[in-house]
Amino acid sequence: MNSPVRAHRSVGGKPPFIVRGRGSHLTDADGRNYVDYVGSWGPLILGHAHPRVIDAVRHAAIDGTSFGAPTAAEVDLAEMIVDAVPSVEMVRCVSSGTEACMTAVRLARAFTKRDRVLKFAGGYHGHSDTFLVQAGSGSATLGQPDSAGVPESVAALTLVVPYNDAGAVEEAFRTHPRQIAAVIVEPVAANMGVVPPEPGFLEALRAITSRHGAVLIFDEVITGFRVALGGAQELYGVRPDLTCMGKIIGGGMPLAAVGGRREIMELLAPIGPVYQAGTLSGNPIAVAAGKATLAALMDGPHTYEALEQLGAELEAGLRHAIADAGRVAVVSRVGSLLTLFFSASPPRDFAGALLTDRVEFADFFRRMLQDGIYLPPSVFEAWFLSLAHDPVEIQRTVEAASRALHRLGDRPNDR
Ligand code: PLP
Repeated sequence: MNSPVRAHRSVGGKPPFIVRGRGSHLTDADGRNYVDYVGSWGPLILGHAHPRVIDAVRHAAIDGTSFGAPTAAEVDLAEMIVDAVPSVEMVRCVSSGTEACMTAVRLARAFTKRDRVLKFAGGYHGHSDTFLVQAGSGSATLGQPDSAGVPESVAALTLVVPYNDAGAVEEAFRTHPRQIAAVIVEPVAANMGVVPPEPGFLEALRAITSRHGAVLIFDEVITGFRVALGGAQELYGVRPDLTCMGKIIGGGMPLAAVGGRREIMELLAPIGPVYQAGTLSGNPIAVAAGKATLAALMDGPHTYEALEQLGAELEAGLRHAIADAGRVAVVSRVGSLLTLFFSASPPRDFAGALLTDRVEFADFFRRMLQDGIYLPPSVFEAWFLSLAHDPVEIQRTVEAASRALHRLGDRPNDR
């Protein structure tokens, strides 16, 4: 395994080895087909092997795989991002969402000359030391490392408060006056399962950070170009200072970016004193895949209406299947991001998300996989819909879910 969730440890069983993806389908090494709701964890909003993306990659590859020098194509991509994302005036390309978030925080620390960072419990911002920190519920807690190898002195600079709790953010700023450089948030939480921001939460973060001279960072690695062309900041009408992007902007290739207000972005070297670099940053093949993906999203006249329609159909079908099977479960959804929680009510934070019945989810997951539906192998991940999914596949998924929900808890040989 090159990334731990892929091992299927939390759901049991062995992960299929994938040989091919087409549209909304995956084929494994044993020749089994699945309807895919992982979509490479978000990048593949057009589906697998979309002809425009594959063509662009082919053409770029013929001219060479990497130059380590500027290209016109990366400027084009940056301009597409600036045009689409309301708060972004300048863009720096990197190769992963982890790097984008690391760079955003370094910029915020340099800009404010402060060291502490505030994140939300259950929020994922990649695997750099600063962010591998969670905390119990309640008021602001000084971070404890979440992973071996993260020095406590680094983790101690990260404050963690519950998502959707603006009061706890206020309290953290009161407790640590003029020490918090940045608040970083997934504007739609999607790494504790999908948990939407409550009305006013993002606006409150904007107001509090502005009042205290801290930088507001939206981590739109998942939501960027997915919940709207301009991401969650367009959908909810709140402008952060910095935005982390990834996944869709690379069209399934290793590409991510940090962008934002010019006066902060200009602190990056070579203009400013904040160091950041990468051998493969702005890689021409990744840029070609990203440009082709964004162009397809921009060209489609009803891209986001279509994604919303698919999401709404899946949600309605799942709700009906849950009620029909008499199960305690809820569907939480924003556009083409969705999670089925095995709990009585939709969570508003990580503590709420932890109430979901993980044993039931594991059983549900295995039955769905057996029925040809490839879900994220963790209840704390989003299902990702793509433009390649169609109503027939949604219906097939709902029927499989209905079968699985009726049989949850049966012994394996009763299946
Ligand atoms: N931020 C968010 C919201 C993510 O979901 C992820 C990855 O899933 C990251 C950052 C890290 O991105 P990467 O895996 O490209 O390093």
